[in-house]
Amino acid sequence: MLFDLAEPCLLCGRRSPQGLCRLCAGELRDGGALYDPLCRCGLPGTEQGGLCGRCLRRPPPFTSTYCHWVYQFPLDRLINAYKHRGCLPAERALEPLLREQPLPWPDAEVLCPLPAHWRRRLARGFDQAERLALILARHWQRPVAPLLLRHRPTGHQQGLGRAERVRNLRHAFLARPGAQYRRILLIDDVMTTGTSARAASRALLEGGAKEVRVWALARTLQQER
Ligand SMILES: [Zn+2]
Ligand SMILES: [Zn+2]
Repeated sequence: MLFDLAEPCLLCGRRSPQGLCRLCAGELRDGGALYDPLCRCGLPGTEQGGLCGRCLRRPPPFTSTYCHWVYQFPLDRLINAYKHRGCLPAERALEPLLREQPLPWPDAEVLCPLPAHWRRRLARGFDQAERLALILARHWQRPVAPLLLRHRPTGHQQGLGRAERVRNLRHAFLARPGAQYRRILLIDDVMTTGTSARAASRALLEGGAKEVRVWALARTLQQER
């Protein structure tokens, strides 16, 4: 029996066999592309080798950030489709684009997903960064190693000021023993303030990692404080 593999494009509704029609795939590929050089935190607009204001004040514990797309239309819609429609259609749409990405750091030994907040994971039933890491692992021929644990926060987060939330986040991650002596590429879905990536990298380095870099599917362009 033959299946009709065409289904509505996730972004515009046109029938297409891959989750995204060709037009939307083209727009996604080229629309919000970020170009080098990026700051160590993934923000564009810095001189070659330059750092943004926040990184100058407080250099991140990771050595670089690789990010190919700005978090904007249409990628933001696709990432949201991940949340609301389950992971498979959005993944099928993203996979061909991810397969066009060369391994940005050939010395990377393992890919480590940045674990989502437990509440987010519980609500979705899956972890987006983990799914992305699995796709990239197949493509880049590197193993996925879940080297980070995320604590379930004790006490109430609500009503805390920003500084307190950042302080809480700083201790949110714990490295598993396998982090030692390894060059780890941390995989995140959307990098916003970079605070989680900093906290996660610090945990990995405290756990003995040799070097940590970050790969994010998308980057918001808000200036970090
Ligand atoms: Zn479309
Ligand atoms: Zn920066």
